[in-house]
Formats: sequence, C-alpha cells, structure tokens
Amino acid sequence: MNRVDDFDPQSMTVDQARTVIARHLKPVDGTMRVPLRAALNRFLAEDILTPVDVPAHINAAMDGYAVLFADLAATGETALDISGTILAGSAPPPPLDPGQAARIMTGAAVPDNADTVVMQEQTRREGNRVWIAPGQHSGQHVRLAGEDLHKGATALRRGKRLRAAELGLIASLGIGEVSVFRPLRVAFFSTGDELASIGQPLANGQIYDSNRYTLYGMLTAQGFECFDLGVVRDHPVAIENAFEEASRMADVVITSGGVSVGEADFIKPLLARMGDVVFWKIAMKPGRPLAYGHLGPCHFFGLPGNPVAVMVTFYAFVRDALFTLAGANPLPVVPRFTVRTTTTLKKVPGRTEFQRGIVSQNAQGEWTVHSTGNQGSGILRSMSEANCFIVLPQEQGPVEAGAEVEIQLFEGLI
Ligand code: AMP
Ligand code: MG
Repeated sequence: MNRVDDFDPQSMTVDQARTVIARHLKPVDGTMRVPLRAALNRFLAEDILTPVDVPAHINAAMDGYAVLFADLAATGETALDISGTILAGSAPPPPLDPGQAARIMTGAAVPDNADTVVMQEQTRREGNRVWIAPGQHSGQHVRLAGEDLHKGATALRRGKRLRAAELGLIASLGIGEVSVFRPLRVAFFSTGDELASIGQPLANGQIYDSNRYTLYGMLTAQGFECFDLGVVRDHPVAIENAFEEASRMADVVITSGGVSVGEADFIKPLLARMGDVVFWKIAMKPGRPLAYGHLGPCHFFGLPGNPVAVMVTFYAFVRDALFTLAGANPLPVVPRFTVRTTTTLKKVPGRTEFQRGIVSQNAQGEWTVHSTGNQGSGILRSMSEANCFIVLPQEQGPVEAGAEVEIQLFEGLI
C-alpha cells in the first residue's frame, strides 16, 4: 500500500485519508433475494424496472366532478348532467357524453375522454345537475397515467439504499421480493490492559470498555452485521489470535486503541507480518492516529482508543468505506450546513476539528449552534449531548461568537 499511495503517512489531511481508503474499496460479492420488508436499509443488487404504469389509469386528485374542459363556458357558470358516481377502486368508467359530468372521488379513475376535475367546493348540485363555477383550468386536479413511473423505465438502480420511500415505491409496482447485497460482516475488538468488560469488577486503574458499545451501536444502526470479539490484552499473542479470529469471520476488522505512538510498537510488526497495514497521523482532532489496510482478505481499520475519537474517526472514514463495501452507489451523503455559533470556539490552525455542538432554534426562528463545552476526546458525554458536529477546517483559527460555521447533523428523518 505504501508504494501506490502518494501521501505522507506522517501527515495526512482528512480528505487525503478518505481518498486513499476509497481507492481500495469495491462492493462485496454475494447477493440474496429477500422479501421486501427484509430489504430495509440494504443495498439493491439489481435494477428495478417498472412493470406497469404507476398510476395505471388517469385518476382524480380531488373529490369533485370529472368534466370535458371543452364543455365549460368561458364566463359564468356551466350546468352539466351528472352521469353517475365513480368511487376509488371502481373499474375505469365509460366515456362522458358532451354536456355530462361524473361525480368522482380522490383516486378514482377518470373517464378516458375527461381531461379535468373540478373540486367539489367550486360546484353546486341540484338533483341530477351540477353547476360549475367559472375560472377552471384545463387538466387541473388529475393525475396522469404513468406520471409517477412509466412502464419499462428504471425505477431504482443497483446500489440504491432501500429506505422507507423505496420499500413503498417497490410495493407500488407490485414487486414483493428484491435482490440485495448480503450484509457486510464487521468484527471488532478493543485493546487495552486498562479495560474491564461490564460485569467484571473494576480493578485499580481500570475503566469500563465503552468503545465496543459505541461501535456496536453505529454498526447495527447502519444495518451491518457485527461480531464483538471483546477486550484483548496489550499482548502480541492475544492480539495475533484476535486478528486471526476476526479475519476468518468478517469482511472488515475494526479495533480501538493501541495505534498511538506508545503502544503501537508490537501491533505494527504483527500487522506488517499478517497483512498490509499503514499507520497514519491525520491532521484532525479528535482522532489523530489511524491505521488502515488489509488483513488477508479483510479490510482493517485501527481506530484510536479515546471514546470520542472512535466515533469521530468512524464517521469520518469508516462509515463511507463500509457503505461502499456493502454495495452503496451513490453513497448516502450527510449534508453540511452553515449556521451561526452563539458560543466562541477554541481552535488552533493545523487540524480539522470535529467539535460537538447543539443546534437549536432561537426565539426569532433562526437555527444556531452552540458548543457542548469541554471538547476532550475522552468526554463521551459531549457526543451524547450533541446533535451535530461543528466541522472546523484545518486552517481555521479561533471562532468568535456570531461567526458562521459548518455543521453536520447526527440525525435525519430516515
Ligand atoms: P490508546 O489509543 O490505546 O492509547 O487509548 C487512548 C485512551 O483511550 C486511553 O485513555 C484509554 O484508556 C482510552 N480507551 C482505549 N480503549 C478504550 C475503550 N475501549 N473504552 C474506553 N476507553 C478506552
Ligand atoms: Mg491502549
């Protein structure tokens, strides 16, 4: 990997690291046919072609009367004879005779020769006649056959992530089973002699391992299949065994801890022997050390140990990589927005920072952001209180209150 990559591993920008990683990725082999609901959050492995026009027939977008626009007087009311009532779900009705209107409900098929629907509020009914108010427009309040999807058109392309809208769209075509990429398998473990697992008493100097829980949460929430291999001691044999086990079962191996200068020394030679891994120093905060490469057939990410750094590096590098491996095309983007910060933000030029912020709406209706406070990379509470990252570019210095900053929301609608 060192040979083909033209960036300096001792000083990489966030974008350079993303670029190098992206060069090494292609979707996993393996697809499966699943019932529609089981396809939620997975990636399509086939194009979905539209077998029918959607909607199949021209239909009413309002409750009212289907008419022939040519029958309507240019000025004043028009009286028409009511030919009958068309309910949603009835078979397509016979054509209208000139001078006729059909009472029609939303979603009901419009007679083939009718071109316009007049909303009920613009009409007055007396017995079997209806008076239509002036000022109607040709073609109003009808949904055309095929206006959503045309028969034969590509409704969805391979690589598309199937969210609620896509499940509904596929269902609207009458398709109940789709081919998707198999779930990506991700194995992870934590390294560190100071780590205890939940259920063990905390010995002096120990802390509970939280990274396996944030990793579990981030991976599972995105629909990846994960394998938690526990806490591994800072010992070459233990780590070698864990690497072997992980690379047998997974497409991707993620570790946390032990990639900073102090501890990396015996992990580095191990990885050099077992795979093809590069240790990087990334100009970012939190999360400066990162290892990336391959362990046999697996992709490997060595994340830093600090709990906030794990989450930040996961979102900055691992998330998109996993999506690509899982078959995503295009990548689901998390857009960034510019808002004013109401708090000053400490920042020294030289590293891209992912500070934790809370975006909220003030009394004037303006969305602004403020800092969660202490930005220490061990303070996981900052991630829990935050609802966005405040992304400060590498060359940015301190930020005054009132200045505009870029934010990236943690959550969207879907
Ligand atoms: P390291 O990258 O291994 O030097 O770890 C950096 C810091 O993160 C140290 O303070 C570790 O105790 C802490 N840390 C490492 N792994 C974990 C973990 N799994 N859960 C919580 N804290 C951790
Ligand atoms: Mg450690």
